[in-house]
Amino acid sequence: MNITVIGGGIIGLCSAYSLSKAGHEVTVIDSGTCGAGASEGNAGWMVPALSQPFNAPGAMSDAIKAMLHPDSAIRFQTLPNVDFLKWVALFYRNSSQVNSAAARQALVALNDQTIELFDKLLLDVKVEVHNEGLLLPFRTQAGMEGFLASHAQIQQAGYAGRALNITPETLSTMEPDLAPGMVGGVHLVDEKSVRPESFTAGLVTWLRSAGARILENCTVRKLKKTPGGWSIETDNGTQKADQVVVAAGAASARILRTTGVKLALEPGRGCSITVTDGPVLNRPVKLADVRVACTPFETGTRFSGTFDFAGHTGSSSVGRMKSVLRHASHYFPALADLEPTATQVWSGLRPCTPDSVPYIGAVPDKPGLLVATGHGTLGMTLGPVTGDAIAGIVGNEPIPPHIRACALDRPQVRLI
Ligand SMILES: Cc1cc2nc3c(=O)[nH]c(=O)nc-3n(C[C@H](O)[C@H](O)[C@H](O)COP(=O)(O)OP(=O)(O)OC[C@H]3O[C@@H](n4cnc5c(N)ncnc54)[C@H](O)[C@@H]3O)c2cc1C
Repeated sequence: MNITVIGGGIIGLCSAYSLSKAGHEVTVIDSGTCGAGASEGNAGWMVPALSQPFNAPGAMSDAIKAMLHPDSAIRFQTLPNVDFLKWVALFYRNSSQVNSAAARQALVALNDQTIELFDKLLLDVKVEVHNEGLLLPFRTQAGMEGFLASHAQIQQAGYAGRALNITPETLSTMEPDLAPGMVGGVHLVDEKSVRPESFTAGLVTWLRSAGARILENCTVRKLKKTPGGWSIETDNGTQKADQVVVAAGAASARILRTTGVKLALEPGRGCSITVTDGPVLNRPVKLADVRVACTPFETGTRFSGTFDFAGHTGSSSVGRMKSVLRHASHYFPALADLEPTATQVWSGLRPCTPDSVPYIGAVPDKPGLLVATGHGTLGMTLGPVTGDAIAGIVGNEPIPPHIRACALDRPQVRLI
C-alpha cells in the first residue's frame, strides 16, 4: 500500500519506520526539516516510569496558582479562545481521581512494550543511547515522599522497572556536582535516554536506505478524500496516497480540520539549552521539585523545562530559560554562572491532549485517514510503540486494548 505520513518528527518517523518494515511504500512530508520540531531539543528520556498524567486531582488549582507566579514552570501566555476553553474543560473533567487513574492505567499499558520495541528498532537504526537510568535527587522530605507516592501508583498500574532508594551520601558519589544538603534520592534504574536529534536522524537515514520518499520544506495545506484514497494538497503540488497518517505534532489539529475533523489538542511550549561547560552529570537527572530535566550526552549536557500555554507561534524567551537555570542551580550550583543567549535557547511545542493519552488510530468515518499525535511530555518514549500500533492498524490486525484506549472518539476527549 502507498502511505503518506504527514510530519517528520519522532512520531511520524517511527510510524514510517514500522510501515516500511511491514512492506508498505512510504512517503514522509514535512513542512521543514525532519526532526526539527518538538523532537529536536527535548530531554530525550525514554521513561515508562513517568507515565503519570498531568490531569490529576489538584492540577487545576496548581495551574491557577502557577498563573500568579511569573517564575513558575507552568505559564499561560495565550488569550483564551473557544478551542482552548474546551480543552481546559475536558482537562478539568479528566482530573478527577477516577479519570486520572484511568489515564495513568492507559499510559502504563501503552508503555509496557516501550523498551522492548525500542531495543528492536536499534537493530536497524543508529541512535546515541544511554542506559544509566534516571536519578531523582530531593532537597526536601516532602518532595521525596510526594514522588514515592506518585511512583507507587505507577507500580500499582503495572510498571515493573526497578526504583532504588539512594542515601544522600551515595547521591554525592553518583553525582559529585550536586549541591550538598539533599535528603535523598530515587534511581529509576531501567529507564533510558537518547540524543533526540540522533534518533530522528537515524530514522531518516534508515528510511532513505529502505526506499522511503522524504519530502522536506513541503507544507501540507489540505486533505481531500478521493475515490481510491486521499489527495494531499501541499505548497509544492498535490500528492496521492492510499492512506494518510497525520503525525504533525501540535499542528495536527489544523490539518485534520480541513477534513472536518476536530481534535482537542493544545501546544505546550518547553525550552532547553545544551552546553559544553557547566556541571558534569553522569546520568540523566530529574529535578522533580522544580520540573527541570538534565540530560548528559556524548557531547554536551541539556537542561530543559517550562510548560507554557502560549499558542502556536513565537518561541521561548531567554527569560524562561534563565528561570529554568535559576531553579536548577539550587541543585547544580555551577548553573548559576550560565548566561543563556537567544541563539542558544531552543523551544518546542508538545502536542497535548486533555487526558494526557495520545491519539493513535483511524479517524471514524474517514477510511484510510489515521492520526498519531498528542504525546505531550512522552513523545520520544512512545515513538516506537506508536509506530508499531499504526502499522498494525494499517495491516488490519486486531487492535489491542492499550491502543483502543487511544481512540480519537474516546469519551474522555469529547465534551458531550
Ligand atoms: C522541553 C521539552 C522536553 C521534552 N522531553 C521529553 C523527554 O525527555 N521524553 C519524551 O518522551 N518526550 C519529551 N518531550 C516531548 C516530545 O518532545 C514530544 O512529545 C515529541 O517530540 C512530539 O513528536 P511529534 O512527532 O508528535 O511532533 P514534532 O516533533 O513537533 O513533529 C511534527 C512535525 O510535523 C511537521 N509539520 C507541522 N505542520 C506540518 C504541515 N502542515 N505539513 C507538513 N509537516 C508539518 C513539523 O515540521 C514537525 O517536523 C519534551 C518536549 C519538550 C518541549
